[in-house]
This record gives sequence, structure tokens and C-alpha cells, in this order.
Amino acid sequence: MGNDRFRAIRLTQGEGGQTLVENVTLSTPDLMDGDVDVAVEATTINYKDALALTGRSPVVRRWPMVPGIDLAGTVRASRSPLWREGDRVLLNGYGLGETHWGAYAGLARVKAEWLVPLPDRFSPGEAMAIGTAGYTAALCVLALERFGLSPERGPAVVTGAAGGVGSIAVALLAKRGWHVVAVTGRPSEADWLRGLGAAEILERAELSAPGKPLGKERWAAGVDSVGSHTLANVLSQTMRDGAVAACGLASGMDLPASVAPFILRGVALLGVDSVYAPQAERRRAWARLAEDLDPAALSSLTSPIGFADIVPTAQRLLAGHVRGRVVVSDV
Ligand code: NDP
Repeated sequence: MGNDRFRAIRLTQGEGGQTLVENVTLSTPDLMDGDVDVAVEATTINYKDALALTGRSPVVRRWPMVPGIDLAGTVRASRSPLWREGDRVLLNGYGLGETHWGAYAGLARVKAEWLVPLPDRFSPGEAMAIGTAGYTAALCVLALERFGLSPERGPAVVTGAAGGVGSIAVALLAKRGWHVVAVTGRPSEADWLRGLGAAEILERAELSAPGKPLGKERWAAGVDSVGSHTLANVLSQTMRDGAVAACGLASGMDLPASVAPFILRGVALLGVDSVYAPQAERRRAWARLAEDLDPAALSSLTSPIGFADIVPTAQRLLAGHVRGRVVVSDV
């Protein structure tokens, strides 16, 4: 293995605990332990990346850190029987960008068992247009199906619909025949959401204020990336024996709800964690994405940005100004 030099973003912690961002040049021996070296061809910015880059939440648990929780690329060198040089791979989570140096670098050294084969249908850039957000949306859809739900049971609601998880959840559910109710605080994105497959648009404010323990039954299934009062209201308006897959906290980590939907309507709350999801479930999610995501829908929800735009884009994302997904292809 050569001693490559490559650019990277490195985060350090200032004396006051603040996050400092540097653009650095690294070389192969600088990397953390791992048995596969991957030349990073594309990455993206997820909500969690934006939190890490701005220091808004304690995502980084080891300093210094190369952030970036998602990557797609080609195996450069492997000391594991699982992968060979030239294999096309992707990686979502597993502590990348949190405890292990991540995607915002030309080369990543990772554990062989964290990697997933890049589906033939996707280029590295397309896989990153999906990224952890889209893969999590697929995990949510699979969780609802595993629970036994199908479109004949009633509509599916998606909160944070114009965000990364939400927009891909809308597309995946619509493709399987669900009547999708998309909840958004950006009515200007209504036409775009309809284009992704939303049948109805609901204004975010309808669900974000404190509501009743039990409301009118409106949907059989839900994908929630927002948390707090929104999730409480989604639950209280879920039909008998329905379920809601909860994966996010864009509005808050709290859940000011009552047990009423659970004990009076048999509603289920399904937790979804993408970071340490087992390999088999990851592969199922990526197979579903490859089967159901229309490339036209994918391009309509993707904005390309350059490596130099990562930090300013993270700030825009936290301010709720990024539609869908961004892709960085000049790593
Ligand atoms: P985005 O920023 O792309 O999307 C979040 C969306 O939530 C926004 O676009 C907005 O949608 C909505 N939103 C933002 N702020 C508020 C608010 N205060 N009240 C109500 N709605 C709000 O982020 P992602 O889609 O990448 O991630 C969404 C959430 O899911 C995050 O909390 C993230 O940490 C979590 N997540 C969890 C994973 C897991 O493994 N469990 C994996 C991936 C993400 P709109 O403009 O349409 O209203």
C-alpha cells in the first residue's frame, strides 16, 4: 500500500469546548485502524454530519475527528477476505465520523464488516444522494411491512417530508402503492413532493403544537423524522392496529405523548436505528432502494455541491434550507 496524500476535513476541540474545523492534507499512515482502505468517490451531508460540523450537538466522541457518516467508493487495498481491490462499496454509520475517521477525506480505512456492496443500479454519487437518510427511510418502510402493514389498511403519513429521510420515504411508500400524506413546513415544496408521490400535503403546524391524547383516526402507518409533539400527534391520529416508525428528532428529542393510542387502539411505535443496524437488514434496505427508487425521483431531490461547500451547506441544512439531499463528488 502506498503512502497516498489526500485532503480531508478535520475537527478538533477548542479550549472552550467549541468545534474547530480545519482543511488538512493527510497521508495513509495517519489513518485509524481498519482492514480495508476505500478511495472515497462520493459523500453527502446528513443532519448528523451538520451537527458534528457545527458542534451543535455532541456527535463527535473522539478528537481529532474526520467527520462524514456516509461514503461510497472503490476498495484500494484489503487485508480482509471479504473484499478485494476494485470492489465498489458503500458505508453508512457504524460510528463513522463519530468514533472512527469518516467520509470527508480522499481515503477512509474501515472495518471490512461495515461495508456493503454498492448496488449495480447506483453510481457512487447516486448512492450518496440516498445516503444514511434514504437508507433509514428504507429501514422504516421495512419495519412497517414487517409489522404487517400494507396500503389497503389506509394512508401513510411522513413527517419532515421535504428533508432527506422524509423525501425518500415519500418516494418509497408511494412506489409500493401507499396513499402518502406528506407533512411539511415548506408549502413551496408541495408540487415537488407531489412529484415524488405524495397524494396529500399537510402543513407542519397542524401537528407541531400540543394535541389531544386521541385524535381522529387518519393514517394506518407513519414515518417520523421529527419527534416531539409531531410524533405525539402522529401517534394519536393513527388508526387501530397501525404503526409508526420513529427515526428522528428534527423538532426535539422529547415525546410528550400519552399511552392512549397504544392501549386503546393497539398502535405500535417502531424504533429505527440505522447506525448499528445488522448487515442483513442493511442489505435488505439497499436492495429495496435499488428496486424502488426511480432515478428521475432521485435526481429531482439531489443538489450537487463541492468539497469546499460542505461546511456552509451544513449550516443551511440545520436552518432547514436544504431540500432533499446533497452530494459531494469531488472528494
Ligand atoms: P433533514 O434536515 O434533511 O430533514 C429534516 C426535516 O424535518 C426538515 O427538512 C423539515 O422538513 C423537518 N423539520 C426540521 N425542523 C423541524 C421542526 N422544528 N419541527 C418540525 N419539523 C421540522 O434531516 P434528515 O432527513 O437527514 O434527518 C431527519 C432526522 O432523522 C434527524 O433528526 C436525524 O438525526 C434523524 N436520523 C436518524 C437516523 C437513525 O438512524 N435513527 C438516521 C438518519 C437520520 P419540512 O421542511 O418538510 O417541514
